Amino acid sequence: MNVIFHITAGVTIFSVVSKKETKEDKINLLVYVFSFVLGVISHGILDYIPHCYPLNSKVDVILGLFIILILLYVVKKHVKLLIAIILLGCISPDIIDLSPKILNSIFNINLPFFDNIFPWHFYDYSGSIYNNNCKVSSVNHLLTLVFCTIIIFFNRTNLQKVLNKI
Ligand SMILES: [Zn+2]
Repeated sequence: MNVIFHITAGVTIFSVVSKKETKEDKINLLVYVFSFVLGVISHGILDYIPHCYPLNSKVDVILGLFIILILLYVVKKHVKLLIAIILLGCISPDIIDLSPKILNSIFNINLPFFDNIFPWHFYDYSGSIYNNNCKVSSVNHLLTLVFCTIIIFFNRTNLQKVLNKI
């Protein structure tokens, strides 16, 4: 799926995981590890779902990076590493498997690339739709956004506690 959907999943995971981290204590190492793993799993789930790519890769990557920077800026200091690790988990499969190809296409260069590691990027298991029939993809994107929004909504009070006052 487009990076922005993986970032949306990351914010959703953060809204749940950060619930216990509203006091400015040191965060347990296990919370970081499990949060990263949740991010990677969410990537797998989203990539298995049948999907097209409503945003082209250049816009997607630039917009995604911009959103990540904003998120890192708006959260309180003691949870900056937590959200960074969650977002890294959410996008690391694409960084590992796809970044040389994306960089080649953006900058017109010739970085070497290898076979994909993550099964949801294999042709047989990926939900990528290769014909242009994207109706089911739009429904799936919408469901993903509604699902994430509802979870974030239920965690909004806690989320506010870990955001900087603007
Ligand atoms: Zn992917």
